[in-house]
Amino acid sequence: AKINLHLGVGDLRADGFHDLLTVYRAVDLWEEVTVSFADRDEVTVSGPGAPHVPTDRSNLAARAVDLLREEAGSDARIAIRMVKGVPVAGGMAGGSADAAAALLATDRLLGLGLGRAALEERAARLGSDVPFCLRGGTALGTGRGETLATLLRARTEQHLVVALADGGLSTPVVFAELDRLRAERTDLPRAGGTESLVEALAGDDPLMVADLLTNDLQPAALSLMPALRRTLRAGEEAGALHGMVSGSGPTCLFFCSDREHAISVAAEVSAHGVAREVRITRGPVGGARLLTPQQTTEQ
Ligand code: C5P
Repeated sequence: AKINLHLGVGDLRADGFHDLLTVYRAVDLWEEVTVSFADRDEVTVSGPGAPHVPTDRSNLAARAVDLLREEAGSDARIAIRMVKGVPVAGGMAGGSADAAAALLATDRLLGLGLGRAALEERAARLGSDVPFCLRGGTALGTGRGETLATLLRARTEQHLVVALADGGLSTPVVFAELDRLRAERTDLPRAGGTESLVEALAGDDPLMVADLLTNDLQPAALSLMPALRRTLRAGEEAGALHGMVSGSGPTCLFFCSDREHAISVAAEVSAHGVAREVRITRGPVGGARLLTPQQTTEQ
């Protein structure tokens, strides 16, 4: 899964996207995607939220498979199995992670040998967050989010609580809501530069990092789902260093000083009954990687 430590949203572009200035971080929640030769094309999804994931060719992992299969000139039938570990429609790029994993696995299955740079280019065609899901770590994202520069010095471990909401939010709807709010209220705050955050991420003070976290999409997510205010308040009352909506939401993130702190914040947020599920995670972690069949949960 990805989170955005900084998500600055610019104006709507002619192509329907918004210019972004973002600091992505990969956190320790995973999707597991398996591709294999089969009698017919098939997409199966299991795990939490699976019924909400499309299983036709609009599925982002299926689009990744179709893209590389066409490039390989192959007519092989391919089955895709996915085990969800990232909240569905939660603002943590679960679908994009599926696409990243499917690219990496299909490249191997079909023997294309594209390499990381070529895969990232294919990833950008599938979605703005897909290149980052391939790469992982911590990275500055520009353009519509697809242009990446890895922040090599941002290595200090960060612990956080993830509060899942009932239901999801559609990314385009949240961006459109932000445009609407900005047209209505010119005083809506806009995220500034990322220099201070990048500097803080190279240090080891979680509070300094927490003070610099920001998400321009948060007012739009709160406008569409006002109940999230209660969730954020519960995290703040539980003593989190900072509470924030994750990306386009509705998942909320609570940043903590260490793992013990995260465990106590998670327990309190759980007790408030303001989240469907509460989990603890940490970052940064790597991006998509190949597993041997023995390493998968399904074998
Ligand atoms: O790139 P992706 O397919 O994930 O984007 C989904 C939708 O989110 C886009 O169609 C667009 O409405 C919105 N979006 C945006 N600006 C971005 C990224 C996404 O407006 N930089």
